[in-house]
Amino acid sequence: MPRGTLRLKEPMARHTSWRVGGPAERFYEPASVADLAAFLAELPADEPLFWMGLGSNLLVRDGGMPGTVIMTSGLLNGLERVGEQRVRAEAGVACAKVARFAARAGLKGAEFLAGIPGTTGGALAMNAGAFGGETWTVVERVETLDRAGGQHERAPEDYRIGYRQVSGQPDEWFIAAHLRLERGDITESSRRIRDLLKRRSDTQPMGQASCGSVFRNPPGDFAARLIEVSGLKGRCIGRACVSQKHANFIVNTGGAMAADIENLIREVADTVERLHGVRLVPEVKIVGRTADDA
Ligand SMILES: Cc1cc2nc3c(=O)[nH]c(=O)nc-3n(C[C@H](O)[C@H](O)[C@H](O)COP(=O)(O)OP(=O)(O)OC[C@H]3O[C@@H](n4cnc5c(N)ncnc54)[C@H](O)[C@@H]3O)c2cc1C
Repeated sequence: MPRGTLRLKEPMARHTSWRVGGPAERFYEPASVADLAAFLAELPADEPLFWMGLGSNLLVRDGGMPGTVIMTSGLLNGLERVGEQRVRAEAGVACAKVARFAARAGLKGAEFLAGIPGTTGGALAMNAGAFGGETWTVVERVETLDRAGGQHERAPEDYRIGYRQVSGQPDEWFIAAHLRLERGDITESSRRIRDLLKRRSDTQPMGQASCGSVFRNPPGDFAARLIEVSGLKGRCIGRACVSQKHANFIVNTGGAMAADIENLIREVADTVERLHGVRLVPEVKIVGRTADDA
């Protein structure tokens, strides 16, 4: 039996930063990569499978997730310096921890990760970025697991990597990243991290349940600007509202349903398109079944 915890009907609202989402049929927290590989090897080939980290970019619908959800956050948590300029981080390590670890090791280039409230695996899947830095610019290679539990090593060339999107190996998931960084200075990197976090708290609704930016920026413009000039700041459906502080954030003001958030996302995209002729594309991943389908 693979070690770890398997829960049935686990409420996804407990694991998403929007604090919404119906139950996962099965929710597995592996004890190690080897246990996860053994668990995958035993799964039926047609079992729906979904991997998650900190749920900071996920809108899970109210009917929940069919099949099995694999949780990595805080579980696959190896973090080590390899040689002079490389760091190996397992998928479940928080981005902020990687940023601090690299800075303390006197390595620069990973500071931008400090403000991304997700895991290394999520950052690889999303090509997460902030303040000019992007995850895959510092990735030398990754380790993956396939559906049958087989391990692989992949290079960036094995993926199509774009702005907040990564594709190319559909039936593999990330278990670790090898980052190649530059020699830096501990004091300088620590100051940069502090500056980035301050800029964030000045411009974003900290302490409110959100998923960060809901929409990708369209070419040559900013989603937040388009939403603001469309008069949508403060618009609410149920307890889901467009943030007053940052127009590209939707916040759960307490007790919102996933359907409220999804309806608000649609209304914002429709209004911006009607007024400005630009169709905003969600950056957040919308997954699972509606309450009607469940
Ligand atoms: C307040 C706030 C601020 C934010 N600011 C930023 C920002 O500045 N820049 C930015 O880019 N994002 C930002 N985000 C969004 C989010 O933090 C990132 O997208 C992050 O990379 C998601 O990581 P996660 O571990 O939470 O992934 P999850 O939300 O759990 O999952 C996101 C996607 O990644 C996939 N995934 C997760 N783990 C793996 C894995 N091991 N292997 C394969 N696929 C996997 C999931 O299946 C899903 O499709 C912000 C979010 C919040 C709440």
